[in-house]
Amino acid sequence: MTKPNKGLAQHFLTDVGAVQRIVRAAGVHADDLVVEIGPGRGALTGRLLAQAGKVIGIERDEALCDFLRSRFGRGLHLCNQDVLAVDFSDLICGEGIERAILVGNLPYYITGAVIRRILDARRRFKRAVLTVQREVARRIVATPGNRDYGVLSIAVQLHSHPKILFDLAPGVFYPAPGVFSSVVRMDFHKKTRYRIQDERFFFRVVRSAFGQRRKMLKNALLGMVHGRMEILQRVGAMADIDFRLRPEAVSIPEYERISRALKASCEFGGQIQGR
Ligand code: SAM
Repeated sequence: MTKPNKGLAQHFLTDVGAVQRIVRAAGVHADDLVVEIGPGRGALTGRLLAQAGKVIGIERDEALCDFLRSRFGRGLHLCNQDVLAVDFSDLICGEGIERAILVGNLPYYITGAVIRRILDARRRFKRAVLTVQREVARRIVATPGNRDYGVLSIAVQLHSHPKILFDLAPGVFYPAPGVFSSVVRMDFHKKTRYRIQDERFFFRVVRSAFGQRRKMLKNALLGMVHGRMEILQRVGAMADIDFRLRPEAVSIPEYERISRALKASCEFGGQIQGR
């Protein structure tokens, strides 16, 4: 067995209880397709294979792929690729399946990028059960008024119902990471949670606001309207939002109201920065 590769964030689960809890949380049935990100030495994979119709593992490390093939034979379908290069929709549709279950004890150096790709392909997933750094998990589930609330919370909550299921101490992994981890489940429903008129523009507003999260909204968003405070005053009135609030106090529906009003005002006057 090769030594764990730090560069690929290899921290393998060694605690049977933790493995059982994660697999139980995934709620896998015999007709399910499971996509596992980074199967590693197969701690989760073995149990997933015992429950699912099919498991596809996406593992970047070639030596680990060889090991997994020798351990599980043809039962496990492997993509020896960087998960960031995999098109989840193609992968799942190619199996003739509408929606899969995603499981992953994620390599922490690419957590944000992986979550973005999962959200982009959300229509292809019933749920995702992800092991992430505890701090990231707190950001994912944070609600307005909480200091962890930000772009990640909004992006995940816009499209799913995330929940922290339990924490994992460093000692359940080999080698032990320097941080605590949490297992998060995101349930994706076919019906969208919020009606967003223009998601790209919505996220431009959200990113601008949180780019200066200590400021009041009226100052954080000023750059978007070339410093024209009178436009923001009009937008605040149209959206019925107090622009003295800080970005972390504003809910998803409120950001949507701001986005619509800002877009409407600026379309009228052609004033948005960087259109
Ligand atoms: N699932 C195993 C477990 O729980 O014991 C291993 C988890 S370990 C934290 C992360 C795994 O992701 C490693 O096997 C690592 O080689 C793999 N990995 C790292 N970067 C990757 C990438 N960009 N694409 C696919 N797999 C990657």
